Amino acid sequence: MNQLLDRVRRQLVLQRQPLVRRAASLTLVVGGAAVLVGAGQDDRHHVAARATAWQSAVADTDKPIETNPRARALSRDASRTERRDAEDVRLSRAAQRARLTRESALRRDARRASDHARALERRAAWTMPLTSFRTTSTFGLSSSLWSSTHTGLDLAAPEGTAIRSIAAGTVQEAGSAGAYGNRTIVRTDDGLDVWYCHQSRIDVDAGDRVTAGQRIGAVGSTGNVTGPHLHLEIRPGGGDPVDPAATLARRGLQF
Ligand SMILES: [Zn+2]
Repeated sequence: MNQLLDRVRRQLVLQRQPLVRRAASLTLVVGGAAVLVGAGQDDRHHVAARATAWQSAVADTDKPIETNPRARALSRDASRTERRDAEDVRLSRAAQRARLTRESALRRDARRASDHARALERRAAWTMPLTSFRTTSTFGLSSSLWSSTHTGLDLAAPEGTAIRSIAAGTVQEAGSAGAYGNRTIVRTDDGLDVWYCHQSRIDVDAGDRVTAGQRIGAVGSTGNVTGPHLHLEIRPGGGDPVDPAATLARRGLQF
């Protein structure tokens, strides 16, 4: 009986043994962990700090903009960029408006200058053939001096008085012409043939370009005349003569 009891006790002890050893091991592990943790306070802080940084870094990309400093900064940058862009656009538009206004003013000035120049040109385009004269015969009059009615305008002036072209044009003829005496025909740029007759001298040649007011000869009494004068005749397009006074009045010349 005692032997049996001893066997049972030994068996029980044998069975418990691992439990005790496991318990001891557990104690050691827990103790070790406690020791590790206890000895690593600083490390734990480092780890914690790193973890926080890591979490923060990860979170930066995930957090909503309102709570994410980096995103807020980016948002501020974007907002600043937008404001700058908007300002650029505003300035650009203002500059464009200013440019258009300036260009418009320049165009207006140019138009005025151009109008003024044209007005001056119109006045300069036609000029009296003599600075001083006396009208002795007008267009259409009848006289024993002429085979038919008078075909021009007679302007009496002293022999040698300068004759000036009444407009810009080209000399068609320059020379002696019978009853007309020394004659110069200038075709104006708008197509009127202007005859200057009875000249004492001729200062241009056929083919010359003349400007308004340019001297082309001098008053004389060559041809069929009773005294020195300029016989001025106008033949539009080289055709029949027309009334010089009426024709030139439309171009600003008063006889
Ligand atoms: Zn005449």
